[in-house]
Amino acid sequence: MDADIGIIGVGTMGSMAAWQLAKKGLSVIGFEQFGIGNDRTAAGGESRLFRTAYMEGPEYVPMLQEAKKLWRELETESGNSLLTLNGGLMIGESNSLEIKTVLKSIEDFKLEHEILEGDQAAICYPQFKIYDDDLVILDKEAGFIRPELSVVSASLLAMKHGAKLMKYTAVDEIIPETDGVRIIAEGKTYKVGKVLITTGAWTGKLLPALKKQLIPKRLLLTWFTPKNLAETKANKLPIFARMRGDFRLTGAPSLDGSMVKASYTKDPLPIEDPSSLYRDVYPEEIEKLRESVKALLPMLYPDPVRASAYMDAYTPDNHALLGELPGKNNTIIASGFSGHGFKLAPIIGRISSELLIEGKTKSNINHLDPGRLLSKHYK
Ligand SMILES: Cc1cc2nc3c(=O)[nH]c(=O)nc-3n(C[C@H](O)[C@H](O)[C@H](O)COP(=O)(O)OP(=O)(O)OC[C@H]3O[C@@H](n4cnc5c(N)ncnc54)[C@H](O)[C@@H]3O)c2cc1C
Repeated sequence: MDADIGIIGVGTMGSMAAWQLAKKGLSVIGFEQFGIGNDRTAAGGESRLFRTAYMEGPEYVPMLQEAKKLWRELETESGNSLLTLNGGLMIGESNSLEIKTVLKSIEDFKLEHEILEGDQAAICYPQFKIYDDDLVILDKEAGFIRPELSVVSASLLAMKHGAKLMKYTAVDEIIPETDGVRIIAEGKTYKVGKVLITTGAWTGKLLPALKKQLIPKRLLLTWFTPKNLAETKANKLPIFARMRGDFRLTGAPSLDGSMVKASYTKDPLPIEDPSSLYRDVYPEEIEKLRESVKALLPMLYPDPVRASAYMDAYTPDNHALLGELPGKNNTIIASGFSGHGFKLAPIIGRISSELLIEGKTKSNINHLDPGRLLSKHYK
C-alpha cells in the first residue's frame, strides 16, 4: 500500500479533505494535475461568498454553521485570515423563490438578520437600485472567503501532518478492487486503501459514466470600477446577491481598493471539454452585464474592467454528490457543487474524512446522496 487514502484532485474539496485526514493520522497521497491553489479550477478569482441564510435550501444551514467553525479552525492553524463576516444582502422580489427560501432558512434556524423595506433600505444601501416590490434581507452571518489562500493553507497543513501532495500529476484511471484501489497517474501505479474523488469539473473526464450527472459549466467573474470607492469598501458594502427578473448579480466589496466584483451568475452554460475553457468574455456577455449593472447597481460604472471565466461541475438538481459511489468498492465522491460549494469546503472535507474512516457521518447529507441520481448499476 502506498497510502491509506488517495485523493484525486487537490483543489477546493481535496485540499480540505487532505487537511482533515492527515490531521487524524492517516497516510494520504493527493494527486493534482496543476499547481496547488492554481487559478484554472473552481477556486480562482479572489473571493467566494459565504452565506448562512441559504437560498439553495434550509437543509444546508446546519452544515454552514459547522463550516463556519471549521473556517475559524483553519485560520487558527494556518495563521491566515480567510473568512471575513461583513454581512450579506439578499435583494429580490419578495415573492421570488430565492427570497422565500432565504426567509425559510432564517425562520427554521432563528438566524441573525435584518429585513429592510422601501425608503429605509434605500437610505442604508444607496449602492443598489431598490424597487417597491423588493425585499432587502441582511444575513449577519455572511461575508467573503479568500479562495486561493484557503486551498494553499489547507494543503500546507495537510503536508505538515505528513500528506504527500503530488502536483502536476494527472490521474488517468482509478481501478477499485476488493482490497483497495489502484490509481494510474503519469504512467505509474499506486495502491491505496480508499480513494476520494474531488475532481470538480473534470470528473466526467476521469469517470465518463458520470458525464450526465456532473456537467462542467462556465461562470464568468467580472470586476467594475466604483463611482465612489469609499461606499464599496467592506465596512460599507456587504457581500450581495441582487436578483430581479432575469437578472442575478452576485458580488463582494472592493478588496483591492480599486474594483468591485459583481458577476452575472444566473444559468451558466455547459461546456464540452473542461480542458479547453474559453476564459475571455463574449461581446453579448458584456451587453448583458452593462444592462443589469445599469438597472441594479448604480454604485458602479457599467463597463467591466476585468473578466475571467472559471468552471464548476453542476448536477441536474444543483446539489452535489457526496458519499459512496454506487457499485465501486472503496470509493467516495465529493463533486458537483453546482456553483455554491466553496463556503462548505471545510465541512465537506470533514464529512469526507468521516466517510472514509468510519463509513458514516454524523452530519445530515441525505440531500447529497449520490444514490438519488445514480442507480447501483449506472454504468
Ligand atoms: C466563478 C465561480 C464563482 C463561485 N462563487 C461561489 C461563491 O461565491 N460561494 C461559494 O460557496 N461557491 C462558489 N462557487 C462554487 C465553488 O467555488 C465550487 O463549488 C468549489 O470550488 C468546487 O470545488 P471542487 O473541489 O469540486 O473543484 P475544484 O476546486 O475545481 O477542484 C478540482 C481539482 O481537481 C483537479 N483535477 C481534476 N481532474 C484531475 C485528474 N484527473 N488528476 C489530478 N487532478 C485533477 C483540478 O485540477 C482541480 O484542482 C463558485 C464557482 C465558480 C466557478
